[in-house]
Amino acid sequence: MRKPKKRKINLARIRQTRTYTTAELSKLLDVHINTIRGYTKQGLKPIDATWPVLFHGSDVKEYLAKRQSKNKCVLEIDEFYCLKCRKPRKPLGRMVDVTFCNQKMANMSALCEVCETKMNRRTNIQRLPEYLQPQDSVTLLNPHLLERIEPSLNCYFEQTSK
Ligand SMILES: [Zn+2]
Repeated sequence: MRKPKKRKINLARIRQTRTYTTAELSKLLDVHINTIRGYTKQGLKPIDATWPVLFHGSDVKEYLAKRQSKNKCVLEIDEFYCLKCRKPRKPLGRMVDVTFCNQKMANMSALCEVCETKMNRRTNIQRLPEYLQPQDSVTLLNPHLLERIEPSLNCYFEQTSK
């Protein structure tokens, strides 16, 4: 019988009181070692900075439970969640529109590179430069607000937006 491509990781296999190396975890959960490395990039914390990297069972369990629950999808910094594809997608043509919602928040919108559905992602204005990639073509939909809200971002956008 072939294994289904996507299946839930069996959290019951993880022992709360044990520690695991990356290799052990990968074997235990039946996922690729790079998947475990991906987890650590996306928030799974090893016990400390020692080598080899060790994870505490309870941390792994908590991380995976969170990941598998409602907030199923962990977006990369340059991804949006496409409601139609039900997947994280990158912006079509790397074009991102930015609307300043208020003093603190901005909404980024883009078209899904696969199905061209409009996708939105909100972010703190201060963090905008992190989200927008250098290759993005950024359009500010209400640029007049920028100066009032966050003058320090002005020169950033002068360079990136046209
Ligand atoms: Zn899509």
